[in-house]
Amino acid sequence: MVTRTRIEGLENVLLCEDGSLPPLRANDLITFFIERKRTTKCPHCEWKGGWEIAMQDEGAEDPKLQIFIEVSMAGDKHSNVGVVCPNCGHFATIATYKIREFLKGKEPAHE
Ligand SMILES: [Zn+2]
Repeated sequence: MVTRTRIEGLENVLLCEDGSLPPLRANDLITFFIERKRTTKCPHCEWKGGWEIAMQDEGAEDPKLQIFIEVSMAGDKHSNVGVVCPNCGHFATIATYKIREFLKGKEPAHE
């Protein structure tokens, strides 16, 4: 079985977090949500008060995000971060590579 963690042709895209990059943090996700204009309304209930973010170390200043790994029957692994609606419990996941891609775009150019 082949476990594919990177997108073919895009060798720098990490489909599944493997610990090789700095951890994704709460502020990374919040910045991503704001700039991508993600709604704070739940799509499944009346809640409009925003999402609860799944974090590893909630007491920290900028906590690390929890990483959820999904494995397809073909063996492909994908990692996501998660947010939950505090009213109805709807759990939404966001692909970590999309957040990485976004953060990379925000880095100042080095050339
Ligand atoms: Zn909801």
